[in-house]
Amino acid sequence: NAPLAEVDPEIAQVLERELERQRGYLEMIASENFVPVSVLQSQGSVLTNKYAEGYPGRRYYGGCEEVDVAEELAIERAKSLFGAGFANVQPHSGASANAAVLHAIARPGDTLLGLSLDHGGHLTHGMKLNFSGRLYDIVAYGVDAETSLVDMDEVRRLALEHKPKVIIAGWSAYPRQLDFAAFRAIADEVGALLWVDMAHFAGLVAAGLHPNPVPHAHVVSSTVHKTIGGPRSGFILTNDADIAKKINSAVFPGQQGGPLMHVIAAKATAFKLAATPAFRERQERTVRGAVILAERLSQSDVAEAGITLRSGGTEVHLVLVDLRDAAIDGKQAEDLLHEIHITVNRNSVPNDPRPPMVTSGLRIGTPALATRGFGDAEFTEVADIIARALLPGADLEALRARVAALTAAFPLYPGLQQ
Ligand code: PLP
Repeated sequence: NAPLAEVDPEIAQVLERELERQRGYLEMIASENFVPVSVLQSQGSVLTNKYAEGYPGRRYYGGCEEVDVAEELAIERAKSLFGAGFANVQPHSGASANAAVLHAIARPGDTLLGLSLDHGGHLTHGMKLNFSGRLYDIVAYGVDAETSLVDMDEVRRLALEHKPKVIIAGWSAYPRQLDFAAFRAIADEVGALLWVDMAHFAGLVAAGLHPNPVPHAHVVSSTVHKTIGGPRSGFILTNDADIAKKINSAVFPGQQGGPLMHVIAAKATAFKLAATPAFRERQERTVRGAVILAERLSQSDVAEAGITLRSGGTEVHLVLVDLRDAAIDGKQAEDLLHEIHITVNRNSVPNDPRPPMVTSGLRIGTPALATRGFGDAEFTEVADIIARALLPGADLEALRARVAALTAAFPLYPGLQQ
């Protein structure tokens, strides 16, 4: 049981350098966050040794008495946080939660209606190379070309025309809140089931800053590692007893073998923290940070450079920058921000003239910086740094120095060693 540095110095160095990278850069990938040390502890614990196929009290292995406690806590906390009658906390990831949802409520060949990938949907909502696109008959709705908003009349028109088995509401890159009641009304009208994938905005829901999809949807899936800021993993909620049974059987044995008990314990802690006033305050800073970013990126110097925001602003934790009329493309903008130590990801915009590896957009999110402690003043500074970096002839050295001042003022994982 020698330490990692001795057993595998190459991997030990990866851990050390990655910690330094996270400390030295401003993390603005909208789907990322920093887990608390308490979550790192569970994930690095002996619970990783335990096989526990089945569910608490109904396992196929002995010695599950302690991990049962962890899973029961995670289930009860997830239910209480989101007001759901049922939770399955075993999915290893968001994608496997989504695979289990479809396995539970649809059959291969059924029609699904979801937001298209290039308009902000997720791979698992019907992208042609993903299992969802291969196994199901996909009809996609998009956002309105003028407003960049999901057009509910268009969703209804497609639903009436194609009579899908499942309507999917949820997104990976969309800066606005969805109208879950309107989605449910359309689902009821055409006899479809409504599945909401709240992976991105679940933390905002938990904090009461975003409408809760649980009362409207037949089933809700999510990740734990985005706005919630917990371990990388997924979970599924429903208030329908029949769907609940199907979800449990779709996750295990339908989809997975042994659950990751160290991750499930960490999920329990993440859900506990998500019910606190400190969490709510952090989510408020997250949303305000995105609004500050949107305001700065709407000012005239940026607009004159042909840079605009999709939908003109934000109601969530991210903004979508549209570079179709700008001198730089998504890849160049991502690389430029990387040079000044800000991490974002390029993102296709609807009807993007550029290929997916280049794109004409950026997705910029605030959850990780809010977790790092940033408030209005720091987000105002970051917003100005980003705006100036994207303008022609930016002084990158000066901007990098401003980033360094922020990272120094907000140390990440102080005292932690990897
Ligand atoms: N659903 C949505 C809406 C997402 O944005 C993502 C991740 O980007 C996922 C599901 C998949 O999560 P994971 O990467 O954990 O499989």
